[in-house]
Amino acid sequence: MEYLMSTPARLPVSLVKGNGCRVTDDTGKVYLDMVAGIAVCNLGHCHPAVVRALQSQAETLFHCSNLYRIPVQEKLAEMLSKNTFNGKVFFCNSGAEANEGAIKLIRRYSSDKGKRGPRIITCSGSFHGRTITTVAATGQVKFSKGFDPITEGFVHVEYGSIEAVKAVLDNAIGGIMLEPIQGESGIRIPPAGYLKELRELCDKTGILMCLDEVQTGFSRTGKLFAYMHEDITPDIMTMAKAFANGFPAGALIAKPEIADVFVPGTHASTFGGNPLAMAAGLATLEVMVNEDMPSRSMKMGAYLTDRLAELQKTHRSLIEIRGKGLMIGAEFDSDIGFMTQAGLAKGILLNVINDRIIRLVPPIVITESEIDMAVSLIDGILKERGL
Ligand code: PLP
Repeated sequence: MEYLMSTPARLPVSLVKGNGCRVTDDTGKVYLDMVAGIAVCNLGHCHPAVVRALQSQAETLFHCSNLYRIPVQEKLAEMLSKNTFNGKVFFCNSGAEANEGAIKLIRRYSSDKGKRGPRIITCSGSFHGRTITTVAATGQVKFSKGFDPITEGFVHVEYGSIEAVKAVLDNAIGGIMLEPIQGESGIRIPPAGYLKELRELCDKTGILMCLDEVQTGFSRTGKLFAYMHEDITPDIMTMAKAFANGFPAGALIAKPEIADVFVPGTHASTFGGNPLAMAAGLATLEVMVNEDMPSRSMKMGAYLTDRLAELQKTHRSLIEIRGKGLMIGAEFDSDIGFMTQAGLAKGILLNVINDRIIRLVPPIVITESEIDMAVSLIDGILKERGL
């Protein structure tokens, strides 16, 4: 620890093993995982299909520059494209990097269309990453505080308000980038119809709609991607986190006429689309599609929501349960920051955001009995605290 930069704050537990919804620490203690690496291990820890794909690729070829064709990369791009909106894909290594790519794409497309110094609308409460440009895009000052000068060119508007978008629209706006559900600011769901109205507004004004599905993607909300709940398609979409079930990887996908403004030399990444990441990503997506993980996420999400609603009857401090699929926020009327530590003692991993919200994003392979166990452990902790 003393040789690590102290970001982020770490809990006093060393996790060394994982299987499905369980993780084990270095003393052999087992925990039920309701965090999944923060919406990453959607198929559960060490899913056998992903393990096999990684083992087999590791014995064949670790790395190959994008100067050459990479068959597994082409196969994954085709599968991603066919399972979304027939776009073209650029592979990278993280969510922030996917958003950086999307921002460059919006700027390039817009300036090619004659917009001078194109600006991008983003939303209050958003989170788009930790690079100097993605903290500038992020609509929460706490992430960019102390890092001036940050990247220019973002206009922040209130999340969920069409009027707020209309109020800032001018000829220099190139696009809007937003999350279909905001994860980091507490599982915030926009009003019904918001994304559809935004789509129509983008079509009318010729600006690009970019959805950041880094957290909502890959079955998390009960659809393969959250935009699929809304009967719309974005122009650009970014993804990472659950992309390869824990192997670092990300991507952006864009409609072909937009993607085509990236030509050799405009954008690149040494590791993006690396064969190991692609093998893990392909295995992950195959399981998601073939085993209909979106439906499972919807079903288990409904079960978890019902079980949490029962808790509300005995715990008045639990004021709201919200979410879609297995992306659920349980909000309390007081500080419940102690839940992460109390959870560790009881054998459950819990993530708390903004001191008041438990973010429940477990592996989608979670079972009803594991959900019962999680709810009963949360119940026990709340009872002990008299909440
Ligand atoms: N976008 C969203 C919506 C996220 O939730 C996150 C991470 O939490 C990011 C971007 C940044 O992803 P990464 O940490 O992989 O850079």
